[in-house]
Amino acid sequence: QRSTMANEGTNQKYGTDDDELAFRANNLDIGDKEKAGSGLNTPENLIQVEQKKSESKTSKDGIEVTSDFQKVYETFDDLKLNRLLLRGIFAYGFEKPSAIQQRAIAPCILGYDVIAQAQSGTGKTATFCISILQTVAGNDLDFRSNGLCKAIVLAPTRELAQQSTKVMLALGDYLITSGGLKVHPLVGGTSVQADILSLQEGVDVVVGTPGRVFDMIQRRALEVSSLKMFVLDEADEMLSRGFKDQIYQIFMKLPNTIQVILLSATMPPDVLEVTTNFMRDPIQILLKTEEHTSELQSHSDLVCRLLLEKKKNKNKKKKKKTKKIQ
Ligand code: AMP
Repeated sequence: QRSTMANEGTNQKYGTDDDELAFRANNLDIGDKEKAGSGLNTPENLIQVEQKKSESKTSKDGIEVTSDFQKVYETFDDLKLNRLLLRGIFAYGFEKPSAIQQRAIAPCILGYDVIAQAQSGTGKTATFCISILQTVAGNDLDFRSNGLCKAIVLAPTRELAQQSTKVMLALGDYLITSGGLKVHPLVGGTSVQADILSLQEGVDVVVGTPGRVFDMIQRRALEVSSLKMFVLDEADEMLSRGFKDQIYQIFMKLPNTIQVILLSATMPPDVLEVTTNFMRDPIQILLKTEEHTSELQSHSDLVCRLLLEKKKNKNKKKKKKTKKIQ
């Protein structure tokens, strides 16, 4: 069981540290040859990750970060993401990664278990959305979905799950159009049959609430054998809402090699218990900040307003055209 393995340390996962490096280097998904060697997923970078230091640092923007992974990626370009994903990020209106994104996306993409502790409004949703999309598609510009589920995101409420689905669909827009990537929400209060049908047709990522996700696993409608990533969003909220048993039951069904990413504003004892029971030598990123929230929020509000304006103008133009035709 994963919980026992977790307590026995990282070496359980791949053998020695050298084996682990070799394993990851041999399993790099670098479809874009021109980028190979210069990207994030190079053995040199992996070695850098291995030499991680656990210390608290205040970065130049005044944000205090306690992280075992000290490398900061100040631009989305630096993260060497799939270019279709990069286009989606820029089209969504993000210009540069937020503080948590600068520090958490890279270790997530490199396959580490990650704990990201930061207030809401700091850009945590895009952190895991980008990490998942990159993991699913790799750097392959000819990415084609194989319809096997590779990531599950759990959220405490239906609204949050649906909201995160929308963000993932927007950021992955170009991967969806060209590669058929599918993201499906699994939340209570919707048709069980419709969910089963969608899962039968194939999905790459599901974002849901613990109850419906567990139900789908129990019915074998959601196949877990191909899963790579398991994300617990707002873990503190989820546990305080009484989802503990269901989360543990889901964990027990997942493959032993699953990568776990946990995002939470606070670290109460029950969240810590999850991290010690189910995570292996996690990279911890603690962002102590109250600023950025309003900055980011107003930025994305602006983006939303601009997108709405664009849509309105498009509709107006369409109406004018149809009038002319009539
Ligand atoms: P979250 O913490 O995920 O709820 O995000 C808070 C707000 O920040 C949302 O409105 C996001 O759209 C926005 N946001 C997230 N990342 C970025 C970014 N890199 N640049 C600008 N806005 C962002």
